[in-house]
Amino acid sequence: MLKLDSHPSGRHSLHIPGPSPVPARVLRAISYQTIDHRGPEFGQLGLKLLAGIQQIFRTRQPVIIYSSSGTGAWEGALVNTLSPGDHVLMYETGQFATLWKLLADRLGIKTELLGLPGKQGWRYGVDAARIEERLKSDANHQIKAVCVVHNETSTGVTSNIAAVRKAIDAARHPALLMVDTISGLASADYRHDEWGVDVSISGSQKGLMLPPGLGFNAISTKAIEASKTARLPRAFWAWDEILESNKNGYWPTTPSTNLLYGLHEAMEMILAEGLENVFARHQRLALACRAAVAGWGLEVQCLDAERYSPVLTGVVTPEGVDADALRKLILERYNLSLGTGLGKIKGRMFRIGHLGDCNELALLAAISGCEMGMKAFGLKLKGSGILAAQEILQ
Ligand SMILES: *Cc1c(COP(=O)(O)O)cnc(C)c1O
Repeated sequence: MLKLDSHPSGRHSLHIPGPSPVPARVLRAISYQTIDHRGPEFGQLGLKLLAGIQQIFRTRQPVIIYSSSGTGAWEGALVNTLSPGDHVLMYETGQFATLWKLLADRLGIKTELLGLPGKQGWRYGVDAARIEERLKSDANHQIKAVCVVHNETSTGVTSNIAAVRKAIDAARHPALLMVDTISGLASADYRHDEWGVDVSISGSQKGLMLPPGLGFNAISTKAIEASKTARLPRAFWAWDEILESNKNGYWPTTPSTNLLYGLHEAMEMILAEGLENVFARHQRLALACRAAVAGWGLEVQCLDAERYSPVLTGVVTPEGVDADALRKLILERYNLSLGTGLGKIKGRMFRIGHLGDCNELALLAAISGCEMGMKAFGLKLKGSGILAAQEILQ
């Protein structure tokens, strides 16, 4: 056995913003015997899953399910719709937006990254007005797609996707809209059809409460049309063969059968709670978490109150405090995992995940661990974060 349980007694508190904790029900479902992925039982399961996942994305259009992490689904979105040298407009909200751009660069796509200079952009969401302005100046329609991150997991900022859609429409521009909602799906309000998104990209290990290993592309009719003339090479990621097999509930290659069992269970849990209730629970926990940060006298990474993430909270550590050394102390003393600062803000902040299978007491335990850890680390806190959070939650 792996020595993952060799830690002190009690539970490990997993509060990174994905992978998020996997509910026992989902773990049990994943442990069922693997079945014939070409057999009749599997076809039934496949059809049920493909219908269920549409409800989660709020779409009536097809959703592709890959055996991949979210990064694979990023690649799937680009290679199915674009041709070598195509110009794509992206927006730097944080580390994940940056990584998606680097992936596009590797594929031979010509990327243009909008955003504020330096670290400043990493504290705000997408400015739709800048996208509109840029698209209006693109009279020959060289730009083939606009790519944005819905919930920027590296910072805790959620962008307004409906506003981006409006900006594209206001510019009367035909570019496809592609949205990374890898950490947003099933934890922050998301509407693939209503917001006119052409490709929505997601993964299994965040709001969906599954282990890593499934990637998703929800695709519009316009995206499918684009895929018919797109010339980037694709084989494993090709939508056409998958869509054909999916008609009967199957996949062209061996799918992740056991993760699909887990997806079935997780979707049942989410739809039984109701998407609106799931979103409201995330908002409430996030509000309590921000109250804790204010109670400590610290700043959250997001500087726009309209764009606070319901999924995670980025906590900026005071000047001179190494956030990763602090995280290490908290893990060693309290068996609590917090998210590290990524990219430009490494060592300057830590992230508290409150997504997926999270509730009041789980969050309060995490806040408590942070508070004790910061005191032990020698930080001078303004007051109690735990009391401030309790005020919100009681
Ligand atoms: C987690 C995450 C990714 C990367 O997904 P992987 O599953 O690690 O490949 C990309 N974008 C966002 C917003 C994420 O939260």
